[in-house]
Amino acid sequence: MSISKLAASIAESPTLKLNEEAQKLRDKGEDVVHLGAGEPKNKAPISAILSAAARLNTGDIKYTPTDGIMSLKKAVIRYTEENYDRMVGPENVIVSQGAKQALFNLLYTILNPQDEVIVLAPYWVSYPEMIRMVLGIPVIVTPEDGRFIPTMKDILPAVSGNTKAIIVNSPNNPSGAIYPESLVAELVEFCEKKNIHLIMDDIYHKLVFDGKKTPNALKYTSRDIESTRVIIINGISKLYGMTGFRIGWLVASKQIVSVMTNVQAQTASCTSVLLQAAAEGALTGLQSAVDSLRMTLENNRNVMLQELRAFNGVKIVPPEGTYYCLPDFRAYNSSSVALSNFLLKKALVVTVPGKEFGMEGHLRLSYATTVKDVKTGIERIKWALDPGSPNEIYIGERKMVRDWV
Ligand code: PMP
Repeated sequence: MSISKLAASIAESPTLKLNEEAQKLRDKGEDVVHLGAGEPKNKAPISAILSAAARLNTGDIKYTPTDGIMSLKKAVIRYTEENYDRMVGPENVIVSQGAKQALFNLLYTILNPQDEVIVLAPYWVSYPEMIRMVLGIPVIVTPEDGRFIPTMKDILPAVSGNTKAIIVNSPNNPSGAIYPESLVAELVEFCEKKNIHLIMDDIYHKLVFDGKKTPNALKYTSRDIESTRVIIINGISKLYGMTGFRIGWLVASKQIVSVMTNVQAQTASCTSVLLQAAAEGALTGLQSAVDSLRMTLENNRNVMLQELRAFNGVKIVPPEGTYYCLPDFRAYNSSSVALSNFLLKKALVVTVPGKEFGMEGHLRLSYATTVKDVKTGIERIKWALDPGSPNEIYIGERKMVRDWV
């Protein structure tokens, strides 16, 4: 069969692939601990469920306007006012099937073939692949010394006449790091001066710990939404743990939103009205769900840090938000893919290799799970790697003996 070279070159999503592998092992009855997940264990907020159910009960489930139903757009406008201190209009908002589709359609809308987009490592796995899919070129900036946050000095040499956009994700998947206010302010100023789009992927922006806040890029521009270079992407997946509802949105100038609307109209028509109703319910209902998710994550993060700190040789920069941390396992294995495979095989723990995020030698560990799984997962990893740990462990009912270190 004939497959396009470009499509054939697009990498499988490593995180989705790991989910499938873990499920297969579970189906075989194996006691797998999943520290790879990008979704929490919570139930969707009741306001979201009631809103979707009410819509379903009408039986009137039809196409919606491509850019989203007005009541959801109004909820996004209110969210933007409350969280970004910005008044925007309905023509500045488009609702898509998850932040993922918003980002893809945006890249399709702003890039010509061979245009470059700067991606800051560690980065979310999908950015480089999406850029390549629309014939752009990802230019990866990797801060020296294994740091998780670049400086302008790291970024500037990557900028060329073909640079169309820079993507920032703070707090960051996979490191959990919050970008400093000063860096975001500098990026806004630089991008506006050079006419480069600054894409803020804010999907985890309220899931931050220790009373910290992630910078609001719109605070650093005096331009209005029509002329600023800042573009905001957000959604309900991470904020409310509503990953399966597939609703995200983008806030930008009228011009970008209207071209994106045409792109979305020709490819998806619209997102499901049921799921839009659920998103509206989440955004307009009680916000205690976000707080409770944030507190659960912070507690789990603390447990994971405590376990990892007692782990010889593993270096960890405490995550300040998100679902993840990105410890350095180079003392045990410099190949994160080999290490992740080894841990799945020997210890039945799912981890994501740092290589997929541009950080070789690290593993992304998710604490968006139960405290028990965090503890058991790290205990098993320790058993598999650290010769100083007891060499026997129970995995499920089975007593396992370490005979390799
Ligand atoms: N951006 C980042 C950084 C993410 O981690 C994810 C999901 N893993 C997304 C965007 C996509 O989110 P959504 O479910 O809204 O498509």
